[in-house]
Amino acid sequence: MQTKNSKGPRAKRRKPSNTKNHKPRPARNGRGNEKARNQSKLDPQELRNQALPREEQHFEASFDFADSPLHPKLKELLQQKGYQKPTEIQEKSLEALLAGRDLLGIAKTGSGKTAAFLLPILQQQIAGKHQALVLAPTRELAVQIEQEYRSLNKGLKLFSEVYIGGTNMNKDLQKASRPTDLIVATPGRLLDLYQRRAISFKHLKVLVIDEFDRLLDMGFERDLNKILDALPIERQNLLFSATLDKSQERKIAEILNDPVRLQISSGDLSNDHVQQELIHLAPGDVKIEVLKKMLENPQMDKVIIFAETKRWVSKVNRKLRQAGIKTDEIHGDKSQNYRQKALNSFKAGKLQCLIATDVAARGIDVDDVSHVINYQIPKTMDSYIHRVGRTGRAGKSGIAYTFVESK
Ligand code: AMP
Repeated sequence: MQTKNSKGPRAKRRKPSNTKNHKPRPARNGRGNEKARNQSKLDPQELRNQALPREEQHFEASFDFADSPLHPKLKELLQQKGYQKPTEIQEKSLEALLAGRDLLGIAKTGSGKTAAFLLPILQQQIAGKHQALVLAPTRELAVQIEQEYRSLNKGLKLFSEVYIGGTNMNKDLQKASRPTDLIVATPGRLLDLYQRRAISFKHLKVLVIDEFDRLLDMGFERDLNKILDALPIERQNLLFSATLDKSQERKIAEILNDPVRLQISSGDLSNDHVQQELIHLAPGDVKIEVLKKMLENPQMDKVIIFAETKRWVSKVNRKLRQAGIKTDEIHGDKSQNYRQKALNSFKAGKLQCLIATDVAARGIDVDDVSHVINYQIPKTMDSYIHRVGRTGRAGKSGIAYTFVESK
């Protein structure tokens, strides 16, 4: 790894003043090529940040869960999970959500937003049958939300199902006939089930849309509209988004009814606790070799590497494996089963690196990701924020590196 004092490849981190010369090369001709198509318009200078010491932005909860109005059983489960105090989003939303208010939460993954919406749902479900639906843009995020729900409802006789694309439809059709307290789904599969009349939302009381910005970015608006039309009008609506894009405000206003608005992160470059560094490649440096060298650092023990295309993800994975590094890949060409297994191995610490495309990695919640590496500069700032947010989660610091190629 190229720390200031280490030797190794010529790649090194430079001061921002030098970055101007290292913008990605424009396409050489009008036709473009894969490299050109994947060209980022981001200015690398914007991608640097010194991590703020945690204390400076630490949120002091004003109560312990033990003193909250939550049901004793939930308190017990929270204690088992080691959640002693609420995170900021949890504390600031709890009262309003228990009172049945709609909520707009601008909060990034890692803020504890999953428990923020699950706890009030569980509280209401303990009090009586109360079906809830959580929509998530990605399969991985949906699976993760359901896992969190299961861990918070042990012994409560509450049932949940996940419906995501890329899995067996017949199994989903069977599952859909059973009564379910919490449905977590990606919009496409849920709509498919609804249109086949396999699923009904008659008893639905709460709708949560997680990573709303991402859901729209991924082109789910039409599916979402059809799902919204199928839901009972009387319901509580919770909408979470990492960023608040002006163009999405109209849609948000359509869905939410007099919501409480909470902004937990600034919504722009908000990974304040993540140290963000650029890795400049000098002409002649071979990126994959630089990467391999970096991965020799024992502190790089849980690394997510982002590449721009499925092809690049596979290529990086192959090269690192050839070098004897424990890695796996997740992207849209891999089956859901494969992706989940790779993710589980990474979570369990069996892999040093997980190589991923943006879409595949969105929303994945892995504790203790030591580093995020952008093998290529992402195309948009939004994508950059989401990637970098994979590290430095739940009160920990993290480091993100972005490769910048020289001309
Ligand atoms: P989320 O933003 O929902 O993806 O949560 C990020 C991480 O914080 C997850 O690993 C959660 O298990 C963890 N977490 C959520 N709420 C708390 C809490 N109150 N105390 C400690 N950890 C938490």
